[in-house]
Amino acid sequence: MIIFKSINKLNKEVNFKANVGFVPTMGALHKGHISLIKSSKLKCKKTLVSIFINPSQFNQISDFKKYPRKLNRDIAILKKLKVDYLLIPKKNDIYKNKKNMKVSISKKDKILCAKFRPGHFEGVLAVIKQFLTHIKAKYIFLGEKDYQQIHLIKNVIKNNFNTKIIICKTIRLKNLLAYSSRNFLLSKKEINKASYVAKTTKKFFAMCKNNYKNLKKINNLKKKIESKGIKIEYLEVRNKKNLSINTNKSNFKIFVSFYLNNVRLIDNF
Ligand code: AMP
Repeated sequence: MIIFKSINKLNKEVNFKANVGFVPTMGALHKGHISLIKSSKLKCKKTLVSIFINPSQFNQISDFKKYPRKLNRDIAILKKLKVDYLLIPKKNDIYKNKKNMKVSISKKDKILCAKFRPGHFEGVLAVIKQFLTHIKAKYIFLGEKDYQQIHLIKNVIKNNFNTKIIICKTIRLKNLLAYSSRNFLLSKKEINKASYVAKTTKKFFAMCKNNYKNLKKINNLKKKIESKGIKIEYLEVRNKKNLSINTNKSNFKIFVSFYLNNVRLIDNF
């Protein structure tokens, strides 16, 4: 595996005319990331992973500071997976060309995480734009766990780049909790609570698939989860194609965001 500390060096050495798959991450790798990497390795000739904890997408400095950092362990995992290239850019490398960085989110997209984390997706999209301006990867691999993120990245790519998005399904622990780097910050008790949210939400989703009218009972689900001392930020039903509130029995999805001891987790079913 070749490790690059700057995009310039990467650009000089990697032949993007070949079939390159790109997997952007913030590190603290887990089985969700690994499934994206394996999909890229299956589909592409070369796989490039990036690890960059993007400060501008954290709307709270405390959240940025406590975000798990496990670089040595990550490098060992990536070597074992026989990843071809790893990019670990410095903040200045990403942010030197301010011109490329301006991204705004439309009013209709300021929902779910965009509503509760002002500036978050502007930060995510700015970095993705910067990456794709220089990294002419044929494919970018993104996880369905961050469903709204994919929705917004799709718009940026559609208007500006040739890179194709490959969407990978959410990988979960046996207890149904979705793998997340933030799980490293949870105690065993909190993991159990997070698993409870996944289990009850999935069950509710199945109930609504069976009978769409059950969606009216979503407030009961909210109360049930909150009765366990879990702070819900949002629990919403949205159209899975465009994230609008107009749904029918075949196109709805349930989105949840919640806090456990100041650690924010998201999921969708
Ligand atoms: P992150 O490091 O959290 O920014 O995530 C990097 C990529 O991994 C994003 O495309 C995420 O959607 C994806 N990802 C994170 N968790 C999972 C998971 N449990 N299953 C599948 N993909 C995931």
